[in-house]
Amino acid sequence: MARIIVTGGAGFIGSHLCARLLTHGHEVLCLDNFFTGRRQNVASLMSNTAFELMRHDVTFPLYVETDQIYNLACPASPVHYQFDPVQTTKTSVHGAINMLGLAKRTRAKILQASTSEVYGDPAVHPQVESYHGNVNPIGPRACYDEGKRCAETLFFDYYRQHKLRIRVARIFNTYGPRMLPNDGRVVSNFIVQALKGDPITIYGKGDQTRSFCYVDDLLNGLISLMESSDDVTGPINLGNPVESTILELAEKIINLSKSSSKIVFKPLPQDDPTRRRPDITKARETLNWNPKVPLEDGLMRTIEYFRAALKA
Ligand code: NAD
Ligand code: UDP
Repeated sequence: MARIIVTGGAGFIGSHLCARLLTHGHEVLCLDNFFTGRRQNVASLMSNTAFELMRHDVTFPLYVETDQIYNLACPASPVHYQFDPVQTTKTSVHGAINMLGLAKRTRAKILQASTSEVYGDPAVHPQVESYHGNVNPIGPRACYDEGKRCAETLFFDYYRQHKLRIRVARIFNTYGPRMLPNDGRVVSNFIVQALKGDPITIYGKGDQTRSFCYVDDLLNGLISLMESSDDVTGPINLGNPVESTILELAEKIINLSKSSSKIVFKPLPQDDPTRRRPDITKARETLNWNPKVPLEDGLMRTIEYFRAALKA
């Protein structure tokens, strides 16, 4: 049994991760400032004596004892990370420094939730870890993209300079239950719109692509990476390599939810990447990891979650 910190543990991915780690018999300390996370996401864990929830902002230092740190704290949806861009950069950069400092003092293993956004609007397709990316450093997405890139830099400098046991996961678009209904991300937006019968808002022509990974598959990858030998630092892509256009996604969600919603086209946000698909050869070979949940199944589970959540 390990003592594990999950920063951003009350968020979408973090809350699923806390639950999974508890089922593996670990002690979990969930840190969150509740910017996009909710107590409700971890309410079912509160009666477990191996679980502790602490309101904490990772831009401030923390002194606790721990064996492993999953550093997930950071808003992930463009709407939320652009709301207070200075705080977004601080969360990624100061948050990484504080958590790396904690790992250095405790000699804990530490995993960074990095992102496919480090590739920006990629000129290499599908994206391999060796590709250095095409990020606009001064655009509206830069607070997130450059914050995450700097966090990766810090992880590798602590690794080289202080011999820390690091792991860096580059997570591609992940979806599932507990995304916020007003999150602004495409899967939650389209499902909520479809269930309410509202117009489905496609930004641009809908020919941009993304590859969607169901949250359970992602957790398997994150935990395998943390549990792998210390020479596996990453960065390692974790995502589902099945690529769809945003228009195909909209049509799929309308069909699966049996919705009468019509599609409307809105302006494409600045610096919106045109295509994205992970090359997961490295994750397959080093972690023996493969996403298993087909898009239709994952979408159905997410639709059922939102159907119940919207009624509540
Ligand atoms: P989320 O917004 O649901 O979760 C982020 C959590 O971090 C929230 O609970 C939020 O309250 C918390 N948080 C934000 N700033 C904080 C701070 N300063 N101190 C403490 N807590 C703070 O998003 P998510 O989808 O669960 O993403 C989790 C992580 O995975 C993020 O780091 C994100 O960048 C990364 N990621 C997610 C995706 C995805 O598609 N979901 C893709 C790539 C990377
Ligand atoms: N998108 C869309 N309609 C929406 C929300 C998003 O067409 O209501 C598009 C968005 O412009 C992008 C894609 O869907 O091309 C994925 O957007 P999301 O915010 O989910 O993630 P990211 O752009 O960070 O991959």
